[in-house]
Amino acid sequence: MQKGTLYIVSTPIGNLEDITLRAIRILREVRLIAAEDTRRTRILLNAYQIDTPLTSLHDRNELKKSIHLIARLNEGMDIAYVSDAGTPGISDPGYVFVKQAISESIKVVPIPGPVAAVAALNVSGLPMDSFVFFAFLPTRRGKRQQLLESIKEESKTMVFYESPNRLVATLQDVNEILGDREIAVSRELTKIYEETLRGTVREVSESLRGKKIKGEITLVISGAARDRSGRSVEEIRARFQEARKDPESSTRDIVDALSEEMNMPRKEIYRQVLDFINEEPDDEAS
Ligand code: SAM
Repeated sequence: MQKGTLYIVSTPIGNLEDITLRAIRILREVRLIAAEDTRRTRILLNAYQIDTPLTSLHDRNELKKSIHLIARLNEGMDIAYVSDAGTPGISDPGYVFVKQAISESIKVVPIPGPVAAVAALNVSGLPMDSFVFFAFLPTRRGKRQQLLESIKEESKTMVFYESPNRLVATLQDVNEILGDREIAVSRELTKIYEETLRGTVREVSESLRGKKIKGEITLVISGAARDRSGRSVEEIRARFQEARKDPESSTRDIVDALSEEMNMPRKEIYRQVLDFINEEPDDEAS
């Protein structure tokens, strides 16, 4: 017997018009739609007069339900999976289902469409040729700070999902750990109150001061600056700062040592070190 096909269907992230003609056709043609939240998906289906039966598959029943649905796929039933919004599996359930289906040699077909991270990148004004997506930042401050520390030297544009309640605290951590970088905060993309705030972390934080922040938020942060040799400026500065803890070392000694260790021209290191020293507040400069 021929197996059914599993379609992974992207749905709108707000505006119900953001759905492809193919997605509408597939949702109509399959025998069953598995949805993260059947009530939410029903609204979309009603808007397009689709009456395909719905069943729920969410993060609390994903494994058990996948096994059940894979039996149906093995019997020849075509099934579509949709999450609450955007693309399944992207900070949403879907991965376990897809993985199980592949292990049973079931054909998995993507029906591409909206992803909030990509929509936010598109309007960020930051480089989008390559980027890193981190999904949600840890909610606990310590863990969030740890993660930010670990990505300090990432030179690609970075994209995060964030809750409106944590945005201010997150921006404060970003400023402390990554520095006053260029960012874009996109809120309620494709919806009535869509807006994108652009500027440095401090500028955007300032414009949010005293405001009640509501809605769905995607945060885009510029990558770490690189010097001409492609090394991260952060890395050079961090190494310089570490080395100068030794009171015996002069700036010249440190620059020589870093040039050797990092296999970089002395001139380049010296330029970065001078910029760094010049940026320091007077009482810290040595
Ligand atoms: N699967 C979805 C996708 O493809 O983008 C993401 C689901 S994740 C559970 C939901 C998060 O995505 C929100 O908390 C917010 O950070 C971001 N998001 C979703 N819709 C958005 C929108 N319209 N504008 C800005 N960010 C959005």
